[in-house]
Amino acid sequence: MKTCERLESAVRSYSRNFPAIFSRARGSVMLTEDGRKVIDFLSGAGALNYGHNNHAIKAAITEYLISDAVVHGLDMATPAKLEFMETFSSVILRKQRPQYRFQFTGPTGANAIEAALKLSRKVTGRQNVISFTNGYHGMSLGAIAASGNRYYRAASGCPLSGTTFMPYDGYFGPAVDTADYLRKIMLDSSSGIDLPAAILLETVQGEGGINVARKEWLWSIQELAKDVGALLIVDDIQMGCGRTGDFFSFEFASLSPDIVVLSKSLSGYGLPLSMLLIKEEIDVQQPGEHTGTFRGNNLALVAATTAINVYWRSNTFAQGIRHTGELMRRRLETIAITHGNGFSVRGRGLALGFDCKIAEIAAATTRKAFERGLIAERCGPDDEVVKFLPALTIDLDTLNQGLTIFEESLIETLRR
Ligand SMILES: *Cc1c(COP(=O)(O)O)cnc(C)c1O
Repeated sequence: MKTCERLESAVRSYSRNFPAIFSRARGSVMLTEDGRKVIDFLSGAGALNYGHNNHAIKAAITEYLISDAVVHGLDMATPAKLEFMETFSSVILRKQRPQYRFQFTGPTGANAIEAALKLSRKVTGRQNVISFTNGYHGMSLGAIAASGNRYYRAASGCPLSGTTFMPYDGYFGPAVDTADYLRKIMLDSSSGIDLPAAILLETVQGEGGINVARKEWLWSIQELAKDVGALLIVDDIQMGCGRTGDFFSFEFASLSPDIVVLSKSLSGYGLPLSMLLIKEEIDVQQPGEHTGTFRGNNLALVAATTAINVYWRSNTFAQGIRHTGELMRRRLETIAITHGNGFSVRGRGLALGFDCKIAEIAAATTRKAFERGLIAERCGPDDEVVKFLPALTIDLDTLNQGLTIFEESLIETLRR
């Protein structure tokens, strides 16, 4: 840790909240260099949905490496890429009509968001993009311009333009339907808001506090996008790849986004891989208009194909996520009721948030939890929500151990 303090930039962040040297990991457990076992409810901010060093995926990429198959080939065709697209189309997109095309972007989620914004502006010839309060889409200029957090926005140090923020579902409480407000603004030619190229949203806001949009609200937004000639972009970077109980977070609402953005758990192994799914009729870019050196990294594609083959060929895995999510939610709700203080629980599938209402309670609880052997992050406008993103493959024993540590840490915090 001393080396980090001496040599690593002050901008480092997770190493401050979880001060230990992590040397090994498997499934939902990480080991520190001094021999401590820590249960991981952060899962690489949702990049490790299938757990650390997933056995089946590790076997596939090890074999690929040993065979001297092409690892880096820019975006040239390789068997690994072809197999990924075939597998993703036949297993994951089977239910999606019309067909989507794959656009491989640079390795970060932020780069994929840039690509999505760029494409929507080209398709519509418009500049404005509607994004939502508490949304988070990444750190590059276009992506941060669409993100709500003032701390991150200010850190950019330059004007952030091209977006208009609208209130997310529930922003004013349950009595106000913010989709009605948005419709009124969009259809009023004198509202002062330019018609958008796209409406960009997360169906559950991850960084923003595990805010869950209702099915009806999502439907209204999709209808509105159609009515005003804007594309609907779903940022499924954190909530996709099974996190909410289906592969895509919008399946429960039967949405048909024009663009879907995937990253984080797409490779299934923590290897960087990002892409857009775009509807065929909006595939209008010229060759190389969005390019990048590391697009469609073959090792990550092999990992992604394996994850799909192992987990998504039947419904069993998705049912398991929903079942485990339900158990976890019930236990968290019991904790919330038992300890009062206005605590509440929200989320979908295995993306759950415990709203402590007061930032200091969330901070002290996660700090104590780490001392006792649990990694859980905070989110929300003031970091007042404890965020639970366990691996989707977690066993119930480990899950319950983690929840017990959380509850004990909360009790200890409240005692002070
Ligand atoms: C993490 C995240 C991003 C940004 O991805 P990076 O790989 O960190 O650039 C964008 N949108 C959402 C919803 C995210 O959770």
